[in-house]
Amino acid sequence: MPLLQGLTHVVIHHSAGPPSQTFEEIERFHTTPTASGGKGFLAIGYHVVILPDGRVRHGRRLPVQGAHAPNPVRKDVPAPSFNATSIGVCLIGDNTVPGREWTAEQVLSLRRYLDALDKVAPGLTLLGHRDTGKATECPGIDRGKLLSMLGR
Ligand SMILES: [Zn+2]
Repeated sequence: MPLLQGLTHVVIHHSAGPPSQTFEEIERFHTTPTASGGKGFLAIGYHVVILPDGRVRHGRRLPVQGAHAPNPVRKDVPAPSFNATSIGVCLIGDNTVPGREWTAEQVLSLRRYLDALDKVAPGLTLLGHRDTGKATECPGIDRGKLLSMLGR
């Protein structure tokens, strides 16, 4: 799998699923061939998945590129893409559906992860998936709310 070509951003996602959704379900969806309804990736697309109870699961290992925020404008052009320059973090849940929003435990875990990241890779810009230019609701909240939720 390709490696990151510099690290400038952290892109935050929600899984758009129920709180019962698991890391393994996302992994299975991402690694199922496209002909069978999956995404056909070699591995789960995210670097980090945060479960509703706050547990952190690691997917792709840095500096391997993720597959979570491809070039939104030209699908036929492989780069530049946020995949090449960002860490992809997905919190299970759906911020657009009442009862499926991120839990306080998840948000706390994300804060801790970002604080730890600041120590080894300071100055990264935090974006929601929708802020990459992609036509998506993900992560279900705007960047202002995301930043204030994270105390940033
Ligand atoms: Zn997303």
